[in-house]
Amino acid sequence: MKHFCSMQKDEIESWARAHGYPAFRARQLIEWVYKKFTLSFSEMTNLSKDFRSQLVQEFSFPSLSCVHEQISDDSETIKYLFQLPDGSRIEAVLIMNDEKRTLCVSSQVGCNARCAFCASGKKGLKRHLETGEIIEQVLYVERILHTRGEKLTNIVFMGMGEPLDNYSAVSEALHILTSPFMFGLSKRRITVSTVGVVEGIYRLAEEGLGVNLVLSLHAPTQHIRKKIIPYARKHELQDVMRAMRTYAEKTKRDVTYEYILIDGINDEVEHARALAHLVKGEQCTINLIPYNPVPGLKIKRPSGQRIAAFKEALKEAEVRHTQRYTKGKDIAAACGQLALQENAGIKIGANAV
Ligand code: SF4
Repeated sequence: MKHFCSMQKDEIESWARAHGYPAFRARQLIEWVYKKFTLSFSEMTNLSKDFRSQLVQEFSFPSLSCVHEQISDDSETIKYLFQLPDGSRIEAVLIMNDEKRTLCVSSQVGCNARCAFCASGKKGLKRHLETGEIIEQVLYVERILHTRGEKLTNIVFMGMGEPLDNYSAVSEALHILTSPFMFGLSKRRITVSTVGVVEGIYRLAEEGLGVNLVLSLHAPTQHIRKKIIPYARKHELQDVMRAMRTYAEKTKRDVTYEYILIDGINDEVEHARALAHLVKGEQCTINLIPYNPVPGLKIKRPSGQRIAAFKEALKEAEVRHTQRYTKGKDIAAACGQLALQENAGIKIGANAV
């Protein structure tokens, strides 16, 4: 059964037409879902009973049920654990920062990238999410915010999964999220994060969606990068960097490189200099994230001194950089951690989203 939220506006209109319904029925449906955030056909009270029962028979909606909700001690981060019809679990994380309401969504169940610092990749990829399953995470949280007069300001594809490994579903979701007739969020407020799926970066550049793109770089050389991100073996670093530059040129947007600082692996001053050399001449920002230990993983966070020396070397090389401060550490608000905790009984600490 197709998920209702996997359909673009014109598909909903064609479906309504093909079933003999006037065009305004399609508009009503879109309004219920994308403007009133109604997650059940039965609540769409201005639709006839027959129409509603036909919708129930034809579409899977809703398909996510929230089985756990965890709020951080400072109440600024809320993690939602969702169960899918096949029993798989994914998560979305809401981060509230002053006026900003950012939702981090999942794009896959599990992940093939198997990053050394991440709990999500430990079991590999189980399956791709459908477009509707991505959109429903957004609608679920937007519905909650709507009841208190708030709304999402930003959406980041940084939850469980590698978004560009599930290109079609993610691209369809981006169209729905940015369409003024559907969710209607500005493309400037949406960020896709990738470990460097080269063909996906070029496709995204060609599509002209213009969303923000972040590369999980984490190392200045291919040799070190392969140790941190096993998936990086698939693409030479120079090819990934070329694709990122193409993206920046085509979209006229600066790109961001994320760099998780891990003790003794990628945190030497020499690494900072090599990093500066790698991005030389680019309009970009390096986002430094000191690693937060995860029980069961042997890698460590660098000392404050080492972090400061790394930053100083970037400053000397005049590379624009920021340091991301972690939110929701006490609730393990990172890719896959809660889902893994629940699924496998793994006790997880914290990593950064
Ligand atoms: S950090 Fe992201 S890309 Fe890497 S394994 Fe985790 S979910 Fe996958």
